[in-house]
Amino acid sequence: MTFAAKILTLYPEMFPGPLGISLAGRALAEGKWSCDAVQIRDFATDKHRSVDDTPAGGGAGMVMRADVLAAAIDASVPENMPLLAMTPRGKPLTQARVRDLAAGPGVAILCGRFEGIDERLFEGRRIEPVSIGDYVLSGGEIGALVLLDACVRLLPGVMGAPSSGDEESFESGLLEYPHYTRPQIWEGRTIPEVLRSGDHAKIAGWRKTQAEIDTRSRRPDLWDRHIGGRVQSPSGARQKKEE
Ligand code: SAH
Repeated sequence: MTFAAKILTLYPEMFPGPLGISLAGRALAEGKWSCDAVQIRDFATDKHRSVDDTPAGGGAGMVMRADVLAAAIDASVPENMPLLAMTPRGKPLTQARVRDLAAGPGVAILCGRFEGIDERLFEGRRIEPVSIGDYVLSGGEIGALVLLDACVRLLPGVMGAPSSGDEESFESGLLEYPHYTRPQIWEGRTIPEVLRSGDHAKIAGWRKTQAEIDTRSRRPDLWDRHIGGRVQSPSGARQKKEE
């Protein structure tokens, strides 16, 4: 089955862009996914082919028109395809959502430009607003590439070793453990001894602890969710809060 990516954009030439090379590029050439970029401007109806207008209520910049975007959606997005819109006002993208999308028929992604999209479009069409992080990009296209890259690598047969996804960052609610490779000594620094022990249980235990330490210090938000309202006892064993 081919995972169909449909991107609605003012810059179709940005696709597949970087996804045309390496892992995703090979998968595209092999037909594991398809990439169809639709030019929103083709759905403009006035003689200037305008896709935007000044913001109601005043202020800087321009806003993308709901009527033009709706025409583009209605003509190019199949009923069964999830429809996402890139916006910093959206729900932050997660690995869990990426996994769901990758298991489905494909995804349609609406890319904003200027100040954003007329809010009525979100009410008038079944659109899931998605953000790729708490910073502002100049357009939704790079966000769409991020989302597609995350989906494509999960498609069957795309990643070399199918199991290599299981232990990764976010899959268990934690960041992944740190990695090391040869040379054994680099600038006087050695690879942690346990990783050379050959003792798989000990290695797994060490990796779990490292993942927990790094998640706790770098991503307290993930850590809090991971321990799910529990607190760590001094011995490291988990206990329920207020028990
Ligand atoms: N005025 C808007 C920002 C517009 S940026 C605001 O403050 O919310 C222009 C376009 O870039 C947006 O419509 C969106 O499609 C895209 N974009 C910018 N930041 C993004 C982010 N963090 N995640 C997803 N899309 C983003």
